[in-house]
Amino acid sequence: QAKDLGKNNFCYYTSELSSQIQKKLAIDMALHNALEKNEIYMLFQPQYDLQTQQIISTEALVRWENAELGFVPPDKFIPIAEDSGTIVSLGYFIFEESCKAYKKMKEAGVDLQHIAINVSSIQFKEPHLLDTFVSIVKRHNLHPSEIEIEITERFLMDNTIANINLLQSFRNYGFQISIDDFGTGYSSMSYLKQLPIDTIKIDKSFVDDIADGSSDNVIIEAMIALSKTLGYQIVAEGIETKEQEDFLGQTHCDIGQGYLFSKPISSNEIIARFSS
Ligand code: C2E
Ligand code: MG
Ligand code: MG
Ligand code: MG
Repeated sequence: QAKDLGKNNFCYYTSELSSQIQKKLAIDMALHNALEKNEIYMLFQPQYDLQTQQIISTEALVRWENAELGFVPPDKFIPIAEDSGTIVSLGYFIFEESCKAYKKMKEAGVDLQHIAINVSSIQFKEPHLLDTFVSIVKRHNLHPSEIEIEITERFLMDNTIANINLLQSFRNYGFQISIDDFGTGYSSMSYLKQLPIDTIKIDKSFVDDIADGSSDNVIIEAMIALSKTLGYQIVAEGIETKEQEDFLGQTHCDIGQGYLFSKPISSNEIIARFSS
């Protein structure tokens, strides 16, 4: 009996596994043609200066809508694009579209200091990434300092010395570097001070924990204080309540982003809401 059960479980797991692989393959195949079929577009989520309550930047977030698969969230398709290598061409498209939209929003009178663009660690394996980014930025008459590249904490943890040097080469051109989802990757506090970065983006999970009188506030307070001491700009992501905004403002967090202010929206909506 136990043997039969084991056998059934095995069959169950293999068919489950192969259907998962098939789903991934379907996503990857559809993703392959998504760019030429114009299924990929960017939305922009405002980032607010928490002292002045004014928009200061936006984060570019990719969207994909496919006829068969419907809306596929980036959390789902980005890892698949990373595994297959599709992220490289997708990443150039994202960068180009984000620069184009940033230029358009600024020209329409939106007071943006920069735009944040997520860049996957796989893209950094491309030997011409920096050259290509520089030429795209120039083509749109922008300066690299207007681009904030968001990388994950994990990127700094694998292969640290090589990746730190790589980031430094981007900073030498003026690009700004931000660590996304900070606090989720268990990087050591002591090496934080040696990183070639400009901004730390505190993960939503810490913002979620902000509550009156909770001891978790101590952690986020310490993160903000440490980042300030090291001279980094601090962004808090995933702000959903007024209590969270107030706490972060009082704790001198520089910039806030979250549904409380706005969901990600099109560049035209940004212009309609924020141009002066
Ligand atoms: P991320 O870079 O940490 O982006 C923040 C995510 O949190 C976005 O989800 C955003 O819509 C969501 N968010 C912002 N404020 C709130 C809030 O108040 N509440 C809640 N519940 N969520 C909030 P999104 O757009 O689905 O993106 C998910 C992840 O997919 C991103 O996390 C990033 O890791 C990846 N991603 C998105 N766009 C790109 C891209 O253009 N390139 C790359 N490489 N990755 C991307
Ligand atoms: Mg991000
Ligand atoms: Mg994040
Ligand atoms: Mg995230």
